[in-house]
Amino acid sequence: MDFELTQEQTMIRDLCRDFAKKEIAPYADEWSAAEHFPTEVFHKLAELQLMGLLIPEEYGGSNAGTMGMVMAIEELGKVDQSIATTLQAHLTIGSLPYLHFGTDEQKKKWLTPLAKGEHLGAFGLTEPQAGSDAANIMTTSRLEGDDWVVNGTKSFISNAGTPLSYGLVALTTNGTSDNGKKQYSALIIPKDTPGYTVGQRYKKIGWHTVDTREQIFENVRVPRDHLLGAQGSGFRAFLKTLECGRISVATLGLSLAEACLDLSLRHALERETFGQPLASHQAIQFKLADMATQAEMARLMIYRAATLRDEGKPYAKEAAMAKLASSEIAVRTAEEAVQIHGGYGYMRESPVSRFYLDSKILTIGEGTSEVQRMVIARQLGC
Ligand SMILES: Cc1cc2nc3c(=O)[nH]c(=O)nc-3n(C[C@H](O)[C@H](O)[C@H](O)COP(=O)(O)OP(=O)(O)OC[C@H]3O[C@@H](n4cnc5c(N)ncnc54)[C@H](O)[C@@H]3O)c2cc1C
Repeated sequence: MDFELTQEQTMIRDLCRDFAKKEIAPYADEWSAAEHFPTEVFHKLAELQLMGLLIPEEYGGSNAGTMGMVMAIEELGKVDQSIATTLQAHLTIGSLPYLHFGTDEQKKKWLTPLAKGEHLGAFGLTEPQAGSDAANIMTTSRLEGDDWVVNGTKSFISNAGTPLSYGLVALTTNGTSDNGKKQYSALIIPKDTPGYTVGQRYKKIGWHTVDTREQIFENVRVPRDHLLGAQGSGFRAFLKTLECGRISVATLGLSLAEACLDLSLRHALERETFGQPLASHQAIQFKLADMATQAEMARLMIYRAATLRDEGKPYAKEAAMAKLASSEIAVRTAEEAVQIHGGYGYMRESPVSRFYLDSKILTIGEGTSEVQRMVIARQLGC
């Protein structure tokens, strides 16, 4: 498989690298400390046509493909995981349900503003009693006249409470299908719909500027045409959407590992102990060598999954493997990076501490490591 970047992918990488350096790096620690969601950054990303990387031009996107998205997330994530997370969730789970399951009319109405960056996309799956066990959701929808009436609560939903948020796509359950199985349907729920309450922002260990909130639906009525995909097809649609989300979360892990390696290497070359730079001690060299090797492993797995998707080939197993490996590499690398930085690494003023706090969620969000193993085992035929 050839991973040589195209001219367009190189351009996206360079553009994002430059943008991250000038527009994000100087403020990242300040935003994180203040838990501030920097709306203006997403306006600028929209101006650069980076909010619709996976969406065809006819719906306002730039059609840059999965590798184009990987380039963007990798560069932004090396500087600020929260910004990269908000963008990746928007590009994949926030927008793809419309692209893959929406009618032409729904795409024009809902997807185009997302792809142009006028709105931020959000994906409502998780509930208080249903995360890994997604089939156990209890949010209900029922048709009453020409409206769907929705009741229930979604937990830990990102991107639905910002000034750029329009609402979300929520997975609901509505009765049973002919075979007696629970039926699921995806519904578009715009903000400001009566009965729809967006909760307070959660206080999180990391991802401090990511906007994550509870969403509560009490007799929320949305018109019949807010059904996304066929009635009863929602569960499959949500699982399918998560496949691409795994590539982008894996890319967050890669970018975090690369940032930690870079910071650790610089620190190891500057800091002296026992009369020598840290980098002269073999124990530290081995840590750095392992960090570099593991980041490279993550990169190859991600680029392979992304390339398979861009070639229209099956990629579910490869995406789950990439997410599993990359997120666990990110956690290990962040821990070693703090170790190499010593006491300074434990101080919130050190950039490496922010990456450490941002690392753990990567083995949990969009399917835990255990869930990735379940997906891989199923693909193996178990
Ligand atoms: C910051 C943040 C942002 C999020 N954003 C979103 C969002 O935008 N949209 C959304 O829908 N969700 C979102 N989530 C939810 C996230 O996807 C879930 O937290 C995740 O899928 C895990 O579900 P859970 O928290 O219910 O854990 P559980 O499902 O309760 O799992 C608890 C633990 O048990 C393990 N476990 C569970 N079942 C098994 C099993 N059968 N075998 C072995 N181990 C098992 C799990 O792997 C995990 O380690 C977000 C979460 C966080 C923390």
